[in-house]
Amino acid sequence: MNHNKKILIIGAGPAGLSAGIYAQMNGFDSTIFEMHSIPGGLCTSWKRRGYVFDGAVRYLAGIHPEVKGYQLWQELDIFKNTTFHYYDEFTCIEGKDGQKLHLYTNTDKLEAHLLELSPQDKRPIHDLVEGIRDFSRLDLPVNLTASSAQEFAKMGREMLPVLMPTLRWLNVTLPEFAQRFKDPVLREGLPLFFQFSGADFPMMLYLSTLGMMNDEEAGYPIGGSLPIAESLEAHYLELGGKILYRTRVTDILVRDDRAVGLELNGETKVTGDLVISASDGRAAIFDLLDGHYTNDRIIQRYSGGMTASKSILQISLGVDMDFSEQPPMVNFPLEEPVWLGNIYHDRLVIKHYCFDPTMAPQGKSVLTLWCEADYGYWKWLSANKDRYNQHKDEVADVVINALDRRYPGLRDSVEVVDVATPVTYERYTGNWRGAFAGWALTTRKMSLMMGIGMDKTLPGLSNFYMIGQWVEPGGNVELSCASGRDVIKDICDNLAQEFSTG
Ligand SMILES: Cc1cc2nc3c(=O)[nH]c(=O)nc-3n(C[C@H](O)[C@H](O)[C@H](O)COP(=O)(O)OP(=O)(O)OC[C@H]3O[C@@H](n4cnc5c(N)ncnc54)[C@H](O)[C@@H]3O)c2cc1C
Repeated sequence: MNHNKKILIIGAGPAGLSAGIYAQMNGFDSTIFEMHSIPGGLCTSWKRRGYVFDGAVRYLAGIHPEVKGYQLWQELDIFKNTTFHYYDEFTCIEGKDGQKLHLYTNTDKLEAHLLELSPQDKRPIHDLVEGIRDFSRLDLPVNLTASSAQEFAKMGREMLPVLMPTLRWLNVTLPEFAQRFKDPVLREGLPLFFQFSGADFPMMLYLSTLGMMNDEEAGYPIGGSLPIAESLEAHYLELGGKILYRTRVTDILVRDDRAVGLELNGETKVTGDLVISASDGRAAIFDLLDGHYTNDRIIQRYSGGMTASKSILQISLGVDMDFSEQPPMVNFPLEEPVWLGNIYHDRLVIKHYCFDPTMAPQGKSVLTLWCEADYGYWKWLSANKDRYNQHKDEVADVVINALDRRYPGLRDSVEVVDVATPVTYERYTGNWRGAFAGWALTTRKMSLMMGIGMDKTLPGLSNFYMIGQWVEPGGNVELSCASGRDVIKDICDNLAQEFSTG
């Protein structure tokens, strides 16, 4: 038995909250230390004069009762407070000639649309939709890592239905596949489905995401991202967990190569039996532990061997215009590129939330725009508050003007403007350079995820674990929560204690 062992958790994002919930379910005495005043980390939304701006979840995976991932959400008790919207069309991508590629979530509808757009691309369209159908059969187990040979074998058996498609697509990148299309809007547009996907983005992830959407295994939570975090927080507190907000962990205390406690806000100290970091990986390893517990692999990964997801800008508008008849997300080319915070953009991606009545007053709309940002530039600007705020106003203005050309009258209908920069993400969540989803996804990382995964402990240091998006590439709420579950299961296994989920 754990004899009421004390677990100290750094961060009340999805991973930290989930670890806390499972810790409480298993009789541990856990406390979460969170530097912000609210739960959620990146999984957040914020209110501004009658509008709600969402900062994360466009879709949450694992929400269909017939998939294994559903068990995670049931255990975490999020369904009590959450209903979902299922997109008919996820995004509409416009070509330079005005042609529109509608990425419908229903595979049959998508196939018909693609064939109508480009009958000459029958062959790659067939391969694409067959890939989506194949990956619809993918049903990932709720455990991310196997704790025994039997469990490993069981997980292997569960992957069997998608073994052949996995072998076929594992090393194919999305841009590579898109080159097979003759039609320019398909060749250019298909890779734009995931806004920040890079040149090495795995085709397998593309196919499995479209497969999940087709099967209604992924949907948008009405109310946005913060209510998901608040629901996790409520469950954690119900189970007797404790959260200390506005409490920044400034050091991990170590004695005889064992993590024994935390320093809080540079002042007080708390002791515990186990420490779990659910915060930025680099900060935990190199700042809070001063880089004392690393090896070549860890150093190589954090010094460029793996690429972090991009730093981004989020520009949010509350407008007195009704966008409900528009596709929920549109990716369109600009006649004149725009200069947004030191980077030229020749396309903008705009999303509205009219399918969620909680986001804007009736008849009005929330519009959000994400785009890649130059962290160094914004960091430099932020050293001078006036200069920083002036640049935020300027980028908002550029975006409003570009949107006004497309949606005449928009400029005059803007009621609320909000700009989040990489410095905002960094300040509120501690993520390196404001990276929005841990590591960028590549085919190499896909193989890593499906193989041994990333290290969750550090060499030479006991009683210390890492969870969340920096050890589970894929950067999403489901994976972060699953990693919180996994760590408590591992701890229970190490204590020869049965793992409880209720
Ligand atoms: C623009 C955007 C779009 C996204 N889209 C989706 C999507 O569609 N679907 C999806 O599932 N996910 C999406 N995500 C990703 C998802 O939000 C993250 O992957 C998830 O929040 C990661 O959870 P985490 O707990 O691992 O880390 P985080 O959310 O980063 O939480 C870490 C927590 O630790 C705290 N912390 C850090 N350092 C300290 C310290 N020293 N002391 C105390 N507290 C500390 C932070 O304040 C934070 O609360 C998106 C994210 C963004 C930004």
